[in-house]
Amino acid sequence: MRELSAKQIHEKIIAKEITATAVCEAALQRIHSTDSQVKAFLAVDEQGALAAAKAVDRKLAKNEPVGPLAGVPIALKDNLCTKGFPTTCASKILAGWKPPYQATVVERVRAADAVPVGKVNMDEFAMGSSCENSAFFPSNNPWNQECVSGGSSGGSAVAVASGMVPLALGSDTGGSIRQPASLCGIVGIKPTYGRVSRYGLIAYASSLDQIGPLAQSVEDAAMLLQVIAGCDQKDSTCTDMAVPNYTEQMQSGIKGLTIGLPQEYFSEGLDPEVKAAVEQAKQVLQDAGARLVEVTLPHTEYSLATYYLIATAEASSNLARYDGVQYGLRAEADNLIAMYKATRAQGFGAEVKRRIMLGTYALSAGYYDAYYKKALQVRTLIQRDFTEAFNKCDIILTPTSPTVAFRRGEKTEDPLAMYLSDIYTISANLTGLPGISIPCGFNSEGLPIGLQLIGKVFDEQMLLRTAQTYQSHTDWHTKRPILA
Ligand code: GLN
Repeated sequence: MRELSAKQIHEKIIAKEITATAVCEAALQRIHSTDSQVKAFLAVDEQGALAAAKAVDRKLAKNEPVGPLAGVPIALKDNLCTKGFPTTCASKILAGWKPPYQATVVERVRAADAVPVGKVNMDEFAMGSSCENSAFFPSNNPWNQECVSGGSSGGSAVAVASGMVPLALGSDTGGSIRQPASLCGIVGIKPTYGRVSRYGLIAYASSLDQIGPLAQSVEDAAMLLQVIAGCDQKDSTCTDMAVPNYTEQMQSGIKGLTIGLPQEYFSEGLDPEVKAAVEQAKQVLQDAGARLVEVTLPHTEYSLATYYLIATAEASSNLARYDGVQYGLRAEADNLIAMYKATRAQGFGAEVKRRIMLGTYALSAGYYDAYYKKALQVRTLIQRDFTEAFNKCDIILTPTSPTVAFRRGEKTEDPLAMYLSDIYTISANLTGLPGISIPCGFNSEGLPIGLQLIGKVFDEQMLLRTAQTYQSHTDWHTKRPILA
């Protein structure tokens, strides 16, 4: 089962070569035998998964139509609301909370007959780049279990990379799908802001958050994107633009395509082995018919500061709702104010508190203009950089992350070093543009390296086509970590 793609599993199920129930049992078995090593799952929904798989088998037995992901096991990041099933955001403040409603993406994968097998680990409230900010435990990198999975969608990436499930959903506010995909050697897509409904995604930074797929191949990721993309009355930031057929043009190659290389993304701080792998990938794409041009994104040096002001400001506002009154943790105290304080003091981890304080400061009277407003202005300049660059090219190519997976504990004492992990991914969130990370090699220690492609707004098709072309010329995406 481990060797099969989501597409192959689906095809075998509809051809009745295997049952959805058998596939589900195999996934659960794999989770039982492997997860203690890598710790991707916060909660496995064994009963729910088997019930969903059996429902697919019943439909097939009656020759009723089934959805495009029929029988495919999928893992869900724990910031996606699952009706009646615990959703914690990997935070103590939400421990035990069961949402009264379903996130739209969860509704859609269910309607497509996929089989959700459980909720996976993440950095608390999606704040982090290593999964070490989970209030419960960190997830381990399947290529070297002393190393981090990346984050914040670390559990999603680990579940796929370890062969427990072929598909997972994650969320990406500053790189949280692409960076863990890169560090775990799989594919991750952050769609354009507005492409996928965020109804039922627990908000971190609302002007940046986007949900997207993680998978072992571009084709599988495209299949999942197809199912989750598109208009939703329940999310006013979600566009009603028609969703193109993503797989249709994927094989048409990239002859004549112009790929832009931003010089600022290949300078200081980039690990030489990562650089070498990305240079090689450029060559592969050039050989496949693309034209490479240098572009410049002059405001890159301000992007981290801009991101960490906007994201924390929005987070401080979004996280004000966790006050112990309506749901989640409630601490005992003599009066209401003391209860608020005690609940938040006990319920939030150190990084979440740091961000709430930073964001509150940036938004406070007297500092708003100097920090928050200034950050919004710089965001516009960064967006202009990309508009100009896209006058010269169709797609932008960069490394996904400046380094491979680092050791657990290596950056936990130094938040700034951790924030630097996001240097190449945050601009796609600040601009709303779509981005993909695909495997492009390994370093000398056998840790995966990822390549990032950033596309024009709502041009996921071009991203997928370029990524698919790269995959058809390389075999990095077929490599699997060895786990007991
Ligand atoms: N690492 C970034 C942060 O901590 C991005 C997280 C994300 O994309 N959710 O904010």
